[in-house]
Amino acid sequence: MRAAVFHEYGGPLTVEAVSDPAPPADGVVLEVGATGICRSDWHAWMGHDPDVAPPHVPGHELAGTVVAVGPDAAGVRVGERVTVPFCLGCGRCAPCRAGETQLCDDDYQPGFTGWGSFAQYVALPHAALNLVRLPEALGFVAAAALGCRFMTAYAAVAVHGRPGKGDWVAVHGCGGVGLSAVMVAVAQGARVAAVDIDPAKLALARALGAEVALDARAGDAAAAVREATGGGAHVSLDALGSAGTCAASVESLRKRGRHVQVGLLLAGERSVPVPMSRVISHELELAGVHGMAVRHYPALLDAIAAGRLDPARLVGTTVPLEQAGAELAAMSGFAQQGATVIDTFA
Ligand SMILES: [Zn+2]
Ligand SMILES: [Zn+2]
Repeated sequence: MRAAVFHEYGGPLTVEAVSDPAPPADGVVLEVGATGICRSDWHAWMGHDPDVAPPHVPGHELAGTVVAVGPDAAGVRVGERVTVPFCLGCGRCAPCRAGETQLCDDDYQPGFTGWGSFAQYVALPHAALNLVRLPEALGFVAAAALGCRFMTAYAAVAVHGRPGKGDWVAVHGCGGVGLSAVMVAVAQGARVAAVDIDPAKLALARALGAEVALDARAGDAAAAVREATGGGAHVSLDALGSAGTCAASVESLRKRGRHVQVGLLLAGERSVPVPMSRVISHELELAGVHGMAVRHYPALLDAIAAGRLDPARLVGTTVPLEQAGAELAAMSGFAQQGATVIDTFA
């Protein structure tokens, strides 16, 4: 098969002929229909993840067709159109048995634990638990856009934030996850206050249904949210991941509000100050999100089928496999607009 391989961290990603994968005993091989290019792939390529050893094929936001099934993959058939969460549960550990596959103690992440989907074919384990069948109407490009940022945003709002109809949801940071969260919150009947420092992103948030768009460069973003929402948001997300946006999110909340930490806190910001005195005085709840359990996919796919959510609106461009290296390299500049998806492999 053809695959985009790097042989050293940060080195060229070259499209090469490599051996076709075989299905694990309880797994499958998919013919990849589309695969998103994500900042996590960039981190793997740059050598920031100790699990990744070159030569390596990145790619974890995938959708495709089952072309081979292992002997122990019960109920899975060749020809099925599927996607998977970026983090596949083992099915045996305590979190998996509780239905929280996103917290698996022995998870498999394509493109990190093993070779990923920047290739014509990808092997995946534990198929019976983790494969999600796609509705006919949902194309591979849109489905590939679901598996990472979009489903994490869905979990942040629908599983952790749980706004009621008419409740205010503040979204701090309107990159891919933040804009996805705006869309999900609007679909849930919430009113959205979007916060960013980029007028173009704020305009996108408005186009997706945010009622209020606040430029954080204008001053105290939390105070602006509290004023715009009549006393504070019911739910607030840090969709960027920084000390500033985390604290602003907590301070945006009204009493009994819920802060949801979606953006990753990396490098020097692993332990950021949180205004805990306000957590006490306002009886706030704090939640973290690490992807979404596979059991929540049916509700997400129902919302897409009903037309309430359209992940394709967040796809910026589609590119052939040969472009993968250039796209990863471009991420070093942090200037991405919309998700880029590989949709041509042959
Ligand atoms: Zn991703
Ligand atoms: Zn597990």
